[in-house]
Amino acid sequence: MNARTKALSKIADSVQNYKDFTKPYNIDAEYGTDVFGIKTMGDYLSKPIHRRLLDTIKRGAMLDRSLADDVAHAMKIWAMNRGATHYTHWFLPLTGSSAEKHDSFIDPEGDGEAITRFSGKNLIIGEPDASSFPSGGLRSTFEARGYTAWDPTSPVFIKRIGGVATLCIPTLFCSYTGEVLDKKTPLLRSIQVLSTQAKRLLKCFGINSEERANVTLGAEQEYFLIDKNLYVLRPDLMQTGRTLFGAPPQKHQQLEDHYFGAIKPRILNFMADVDHELWRLGIPAKTRHNEVAPAQFEIAPVFEELNLANDHNMMVMEVLRNTAEKHGLVCLLHEKPFAGINGSGKHNNWSISIGSRNLLNPGTNPHENAIFLTTLCAIIKAVDTHADLLRSATAGAGNDHRLGANEAPPAIISIFLGDQLSDIIDQLESGEAKHSKDKKVLKIGVDTMPPLDADVTDRNRTSPFAFTGNKFEFRAAGSSQSCASPNIVLNTIVAEAFDEIATKLEKLSPEKFHKGLQEILTDIVKKHKRIIFNGDGYKDAWKKEAKKRGLPNLSNTPQALRPLVEKKNIELFEKYGVFNASEMHSRYEVFIEEYTKKIQIETALALDISKTIILPAVVKYLGELSSSAAALAAAKADRNNSLSARIKYVSMLLSELCEANDALEILIKNGEPLQKRIDAMNKVREVADRLEQEVADELWPLPKYSELLFIY
Ligand code: ADP
Ligand code: MG
Repeated sequence: MNARTKALSKIADSVQNYKDFTKPYNIDAEYGTDVFGIKTMGDYLSKPIHRRLLDTIKRGAMLDRSLADDVAHAMKIWAMNRGATHYTHWFLPLTGSSAEKHDSFIDPEGDGEAITRFSGKNLIIGEPDASSFPSGGLRSTFEARGYTAWDPTSPVFIKRIGGVATLCIPTLFCSYTGEVLDKKTPLLRSIQVLSTQAKRLLKCFGINSEERANVTLGAEQEYFLIDKNLYVLRPDLMQTGRTLFGAPPQKHQQLEDHYFGAIKPRILNFMADVDHELWRLGIPAKTRHNEVAPAQFEIAPVFEELNLANDHNMMVMEVLRNTAEKHGLVCLLHEKPFAGINGSGKHNNWSISIGSRNLLNPGTNPHENAIFLTTLCAIIKAVDTHADLLRSATAGAGNDHRLGANEAPPAIISIFLGDQLSDIIDQLESGEAKHSKDKKVLKIGVDTMPPLDADVTDRNRTSPFAFTGNKFEFRAAGSSQSCASPNIVLNTIVAEAFDEIATKLEKLSPEKFHKGLQEILTDIVKKHKRIIFNGDGYKDAWKKEAKKRGLPNLSNTPQALRPLVEKKNIELFEKYGVFNASEMHSRYEVFIEEYTKKIQIETALALDISKTIILPAVVKYLGELSSSAAALAAAKADRNNSLSARIKYVSMLLSELCEANDALEILIKNGEPLQKRIDAMNKVREVADRLEQEVADELWPLPKYSELLFIY
């Protein structure tokens, strides 16, 4: 038996040990127990300090120094009561994952005695050695210090890994000179900018709000689960997160029997474990279901304030991975673990509200409609003007396999509004001036829009950016990516549009307000309606049409990253103080480098697997065939020479494989362009996958798609 067949029989023989969920679970009692939230803080802090801290949190300001010692002490007591011995500043570097460096609460007193201490300074500032984090040249290694600082708008929490409890403090991460090295800082800046402009816009409509605008995010997370016994036999999955080899199985998703299907016991057991873990962390996990591909699933929380929701999504990904281990499974968050089968995305549901008013709620009276339509037009203008930037926020080696691959939204950014809303936009376009007989004209501030049928707006799954009732859903983001980048872009470009509209509205006298607004919106629709597309985004016809409309189609990562360093985009981010020019350049460098390294790893690994795992199996099979052929010939038992024909065919494939390997090897050695290497790697795979369908099953070393996708 080879390792693969051994693993298969081990799985077949094993009895699954499910976690026992028969004891009643009390959500109310368990929810948020490991979060130092506002209510818990109240139990640990004096009233005046608690009040001042709340004020800081509501304003989204940095923690007041004079509060820090008291807050830190309360946190330490709480965390130690909950079993924590260490704390860590928890931050989001440009690698796309979260980072931590643990310190214990111990403070030695000499004489072998120690007390525990956690000061305000420990809470506010951490100094991790930043030299090994990507910075794109922002910080030279001799000046390796990076600084982290608590972001009080995201509560501290306790992470439990294998029973070890650690107090985690969500923090910002910047360099010695103050340049941002993380994804959280610019996200917070962009939220601030959007909030300011949204309030300014609402003021034009006579609405004054003391509160910060609330940008909201609900991130739907897709993922795959596979059995760990098979995973460890796939170096490609272990090192790159995706299969570099694998012939399509006869049955995959064509029967559409997985989507929303009944959840199997092992998976449901896993999902329940994940939900409990998330609830403990105060993460509002809501929906769980089977997705389109076999072995693919989704989890979605209820939406929250964007910065918190982003932290929570990072934690969701980590909890999914860690919990899978406990269940003998491996969670794959890669955008395309299996060729030819649906990949995984992260639907980014985004909206903005002030007080109880969601600006993307169509509303029921002319005044509310006017605010809604203005917001809608601002978003149309923003997305059309900066489609390139939105696309670049989703760039990455993994997502290249997904965008535009007839399952995920295309690499072309467009907006789906649905028929009803598009009709209203058409009416806006014709404006008051056009009194065509049959065409209704919607007068802003006078007419009420017909109520939107929420269901009709959500039928198009092919659009990258769809209006879904009271929010926009950005679907191009990849499953492994942080939500920060797309939302930094969204917030900033919408802030710019709000800013420009508000600047015009502020100049209008009250009598001219509605007429002026109507003109502004008509003008926006005329200029930017090319971005609206309600048809099938998977069709080739759309690519042609989009080209005619002049919409960018940035189909791979190097192309998609270029916009980060274009002058107009740098100016945009500088204008609103979200990034400065060197931060933009550094990000570009970091992301290009990450892409390059990933492709280098994939191509080198594909070659290695082909030469050292696949080729030997083929040789062994040929050896067996040859000795059988010789034996049969001696016995005069193979009259039609059918075995020699097979030997000929398989050895022809073998030489094709060797040629493909050699070609790839030379390209790698000579450092040829990445795309050439990718093409050569694909050729190796193509031959290897054909061989998988020829070589004796018991000799094939790599777990097959039919096993990876169906054994759980
Ligand atoms: P789908 O039909 O795409 O599966 P759902 O209706 O289940 O979507 O909702 C998807 C996500 O959108 C959920 O996380 C939900 O909480 C979130 N959502 C709903 N309203 C808003 C909003 N105003 N802002 C941001 N996200 C929202
Ligand atoms: Mg969705």
